[in-house]
Amino acid sequence: MPKRVQSPSSINTYNQCPRKYYYQYIEKLTTLPNIHMIRGNIAHSVLEDFYDITLPEKDYPIFFKNAIQKLLVHHWQKAEPRLNKLTLTEDQKKFYFEETILMLMNWTDHFITSFKEELQKNLSPTQAFHQLTPIREQRYHSTEYHVQGFIDAIHHLEDEVHIIDYKTNSRFDLKKEIKLQLAIYSLLYLEKHGHPPSKVGIFFLRHKLKFMTVDPELIDLARREIKLIHQNTESAAIIDYPRKTSPLCKYSTGQCDFYHTCQPKK
Ligand code: SF4
Repeated sequence: MPKRVQSPSSINTYNQCPRKYYYQYIEKLTTLPNIHMIRGNIAHSVLEDFYDITLPEKDYPIFFKNAIQKLLVHHWQKAEPRLNKLTLTEDQKKFYFEETILMLMNWTDHFITSFKEELQKNLSPTQAFHQLTPIREQRYHSTEYHVQGFIDAIHHLEDEVHIIDYKTNSRFDLKKEIKLQLAIYSLLYLEKHGHPPSKVGIFFLRHKLKFMTVDPELIDLARREIKLIHQNTESAAIIDYPRKTSPLCKYSTGQCDFYHTCQPKK
């Protein structure tokens, strides 16, 4: 059987529970959307479109904040059909919308600080905005490693390249799943460009940007995990994908997408 193309999320799913990987990537059972997933997509679309705005002549901070709010309203409305399929009350919808505004305003405050720093280097507003504009939503795919990833933002600075992923997580730490995702992005970047990025990081939208340095150990982690996932997923038989029960099977506000099919307690 040809090797499956893996991704940070498929590898993390396997590591969380091989049976869950089986249902999602081999049986390809449908997964249910949830508010966190939809809201994450909305926030990503807002940040992607933000860099396409046309700059005004003045009043940049207010303009940036208004632009983000308008983009959020636009993408929230566009997502209404999906949001309406969730069983959220109007109060819950309002809560998530307002929480998303707060996260994006927090990001905008950081952006405004960086924009002012660029202006202080004697750049024009247009040059400063251009300087801060990353390459967005790039698909990286490795035929050697059979792995792919979508990178949210790639910033080219004077002599450094920074790769950034946006997250709406409430926890502000580079836990092992995130470290693996960033390790795989580093490897993919290295393979395509012949050199690794200088830094990889997460912009936690509720908090701030958190970087980690790319070193040989991080690249080795990606190589090791990719090799392992290919070894572990050669079979298409359910028996080769044992259940790994954990608090993520069922928790106070939700459950694994495949809880009913899996019946982990039987
Ligand atoms: S319910 Fe638990 S054991 Fe079953 S697939 Fe989901 S995570 Fe794995």
